[in-house]
Amino acid sequence: MKRLKYFLVLVMSALLVVVSVGCGAKPLSQQDVLQNAKEANTIMWGVKADTKLMGLIDVKDGQTKGFEVDIAKALTKKILGKNGKAKFVTVTSQSRIPLLKNGNIDAIIATMTINAEREKVIDFSNSYFDAGQSLLVKDGSPVKKVSDLNNRTVIGVVGSNSVENVKKYAPKARVLQLQDYAQALVALKSGQGDALTTDNVILAGMAVENPGYKVQGGAFTTEPYGIGINKNQPAFKKALNKAIKEIEDDGTYNKLIKKWFGDVPGFDYKEVLR
Ligand code: GLU
Repeated sequence: MKRLKYFLVLVMSALLVVVSVGCGAKPLSQQDVLQNAKEANTIMWGVKADTKLMGLIDVKDGQTKGFEVDIAKALTKKILGKNGKAKFVTVTSQSRIPLLKNGNIDAIIATMTINAEREKVIDFSNSYFDAGQSLLVKDGSPVKKVSDLNNRTVIGVVGSNSVENVKKYAPKARVLQLQDYAQALVALKSGQGDALTTDNVILAGMAVENPGYKVQGGAFTTEPYGIGINKNQPAFKKALNKAIKEIEDDGTYNKLIKKWFGDVPGFDYKEVLR
């Protein structure tokens, strides 16, 4: 009996140590994310996994591939040196800010527009890509422009600003919101809506894979993409902006634009060169 008691006391104290060590970690707002990344020689990036051209999981090797993944790798090397590692965590439009704020990722590079509402909760790097919102419709669709969505159903994704924007441009549209772009595309193809709305670059990736569907109505908004980081990380923000400038200046940026968008029908890569 005495032995059991002794054993229990031991287990309890061990647990206490574990708990107090866990609580002892500094809150994220007091940590230097750049310093942590340097120590780990790694930057953890939140990327999309269902967005062809930007971030898409390749089922053959399980790797996430796309323009944003390549940009993240290039920025990592500029910031940490050539042996620096970029690691990738899948995010959706809805999960990206919570994952950043919880410290699961260091930075979001996931088709995220810089806007005032988001700037209340996170910080952004300078813009690294210029997109614009548009529509994906079936060939022959009567929806030719955004105002044609009035009294029709448009499909969007939770956590994107596209669903908010559409309320401005077509206030009488019914909006069906899905969890991610893979589900949104399935909903469009099964006739649950008349159009899918998000940024032209995302829609162009869908059109490539889905003959019979096309990007329609031009870009009716401007969507500058920024890298999302936590607030109070001035050193990390400065390093990211410097690295963006470096990849633009040394030609890496335009090389990657041509690699991913050089050959995409309906998307003029020359408009996004820098
Ligand atoms: N760029 C828009 C946004 O930041 C739409 C793309 C997305 O859902 O990630 O919300």
